[in-house]
This record gives sequence, C-alpha cells and structure tokens, in this order.
Amino acid sequence: MHELSIVSSLIEIIATDAREKGLQEVTFVRLIIGALSSANPRAIEFALEHAKSGSILEGASFEIVVEEAQSKCVNCATLFEPQLPFLMCPSCGTPSSSFEKGREIYIDYYEGE
Ligand SMILES: [Zn+2]
Repeated sequence: MHELSIVSSLIEIIATDAREKGLQEVTFVRLIIGALSSANPRAIEFALEHAKSGSILEGASFEIVVEEAQSKCVNCATLFEPQLPFLMCPSCGTPSSSFEKGREIYIDYYEGE
C-alpha cells in the first residue's frame, strides 16, 4: 500500500525531529496533500491511525489539508490551476508549464510537549 509507506516516513521524520527537540509526545500534526499527488487523503488518514500506535505520535490528532494544484506558464508566467492531463496556459496557450504546487505531501507543522 502506497500510502502506508508515505505515512511511515512522515511519522519517522516527525518522531526524529520531536526527539531532537526533547518532546515527550506529539499532540497535533497538520499535513498538506497536493491535489495532484498520487496519495488518497482518506487512505493517508487511515494509514496514520494505524502507523501512529506505539510511536511518539500515538496521541496526536491530524489535520489533513488538500492543496490545490498550481502551474506556472513558462512563457508568460501566468499562474493557473492545471486540468490534467493538459497543462495549457489559459492566457497564452503555451502547452508546457511547470508545477508550482499540488504534487507533494509535506508536514506543514506539528505541536508537541
Ligand atoms: Zn502563458
């Protein structure tokens, strides 16, 4: 299961960081999931509930925020929400654009004590 390996590494990152900061437990985690990332937010949530047990995150609650995708035109620098599979700029029609947002999963912040 794809999400489970993502979640395991996220928990590992937070746990390592929390230990370095001398925290006893992590109470809250805010995760950002890009709308174009390959992960399913519900599956992530489900995997988190399983993967957190026995870790420093055992008592943590999670907030999962889905971040809209954003592309930037390489020609005119217009920012727009891409409609896959096409990344055509709505302003000048250039078909190649770069992704600015929405493909990644990352930890926005977490809290602990
Ligand atoms: Zn353009």
